[in-house]
Amino acid sequence: MSDLPRHTIIHRGIPPLTLALIYVGAVLLPLALASLLGETHRQLTVQLGAAAGTISAAMIFLQMISSGRFEAVSGRIGIDITMAFHKWAAPMALAFALAHVALLIGLPDPDRPNRFARRLETLMTAERLWDARLALILLALLVLLALLRDRLPVRYQVWRGSHALGALALVGLVLAHLFTDGLLSPARTALWAGFAAAVTLPALWVYARRLTRPPGQCWTIAGLRSVTPSIHEMLLENPRGHRLDFRPGQFVWASVGGQRLPLHDHPFSIASAPGAPQLRLLIQEAGDFTSSLDAVMPGTRVAIDGPHGSFGPSGGPRDGLILIAGGVGIAPILSMLEAFARDGCDGPLRFAYSVHDASDMMPDEMLRPALKALDVTPLLTASRNAGGEVAQGRLGEAQMRQLLEGLDPKRVEVMICGPGPMMTTLTDTLNDLGVPLPRIHYERFSYGAGPLSRKDHRMMAGFATIFAALAAAMALYSLI
Ligand SMILES: Cc1cc2nc3c(=O)[nH]c(=O)nc-3n(C[C@H](O)[C@H](O)[C@H](O)COP(=O)(O)OP(=O)(O)OC[C@H]3O[C@@H](n4cnc5c(N)ncnc54)[C@H](O)[C@@H]3O)c2cc1C
Repeated sequence: MSDLPRHTIIHRGIPPLTLALIYVGAVLLPLALASLLGETHRQLTVQLGAAAGTISAAMIFLQMISSGRFEAVSGRIGIDITMAFHKWAAPMALAFALAHVALLIGLPDPDRPNRFARRLETLMTAERLWDARLALILLALLVLLALLRDRLPVRYQVWRGSHALGALALVGLVLAHLFTDGLLSPARTALWAGFAAAVTLPALWVYARRLTRPPGQCWTIAGLRSVTPSIHEMLLENPRGHRLDFRPGQFVWASVGGQRLPLHDHPFSIASAPGAPQLRLLIQEAGDFTSSLDAVMPGTRVAIDGPHGSFGPSGGPRDGLILIAGGVGIAPILSMLEAFARDGCDGPLRFAYSVHDASDMMPDEMLRPALKALDVTPLLTASRNAGGEVAQGRLGEAQMRQLLEGLDPKRVEVMICGPGPMMTTLTDTLNDLGVPLPRIHYERFSYGAGPLSRKDHRMMAGFATIFAALAAAMALYSLI
């Protein structure tokens, strides 16, 4: 038996610092090899330009495996940090690519008036640089369309499919540019070919595995009903009696119907306790798929990929566990409540749940049995139509103080799941009340832009350190 408190997430994957070092090492590996082989340039700007291009190419390649699909990568740091890094590394790769171009063109030189125009013309028109031009345009497009994604008038799946294909084409173009214009020695050619294979094959495997999955491995819908005006409860059964081995707080990629391409799958937190005979998902209407569930019939096949994610109590020593849910963020919290109700919880447990309208709250029969078993009095709020046990308003400082009453804020652990602004505000509030940031965990249901908490700012500072280290290595490479 493990000494960890019950239902703690046992993190698979690489610890954050090691992962950051591996990332920096992988990005700088081609540069280190060039330096080792003495394949350098005499002119400083050309040397800097080559370094910037090399770093950009390696960062582009690594984007293929920082897409949140690989537990070995995101298992420890979680999907939130993985996707945030993926989002920020792309514009940084573009910045290095632009620096590569700018440095190779160089500044206008009064002593050589034609050189700047000649180099610019070569870049714009030389036939051999078609791959480089296309790669640069494609990279800029991918970054721009990802930044504007939520405002694009196209379905999410269309964007996702074009993003995946565009990324694959980009790796091909960058490789072509390296092989034809990179003046690579055989050793460096082999390194880049191996690098490209190491990042594209696992990404392609995700698709191949899904396409070749026998239909018999799918789960089936055993029940589907509305539990609030906008949330459906989907109960899934495995025809072979297989039970998913997961920890409360984790999520699955679910693809409903005969859809085989991973483009059609959606992430949903598991809302049932581990070991329950049926897997429960709580699905809120948000767009095309989630709003079309009324037409889905029981017995429909659902392909499940998971479990994924690192949201869940960490397992360190704690004096109390505080669970906070907002809206459909109740899904992973319900899984935790049911698991603790069945198996017991180490230390005091507090629970707060907030919704927009009181009618959005989970029905009593889903929430009460676990709360009763745990002897927990919930703190419930609704912005509209509150009454009875449900207080009017949102969760704020007063409620956080109430949750912390009698507990040592430095030793509690807090799990929050709900709308982005709620999670970031409550994280900062709890931190102001003495809860250390590493003891507050939350998971976003959307990768789009949103407010940042102090914890997010720390994460961004970590990313900035990684990018600064790459820029410093580029400068260093040019000096040696
Ligand atoms: C880790 C995680 C756990 C989640 N758990 C739940 C849950 O328990 N219950 C719940 O109702 N919702 C959950 N979501 C959100 C849910 O995945 C989206 O609301 C759903 O995919 C929307 O699909 P749609 O086609 O209806 O809407 P669309 O109009 O296609 O998308 C609406 C928005 O949802 C997001 N989205 C859509 N498809 C995907 C996708 N394949 N991958 C990532 N984001 C996507 C995008 O931000 C998009 O802008 C979770 C999201 C994440 C990342």
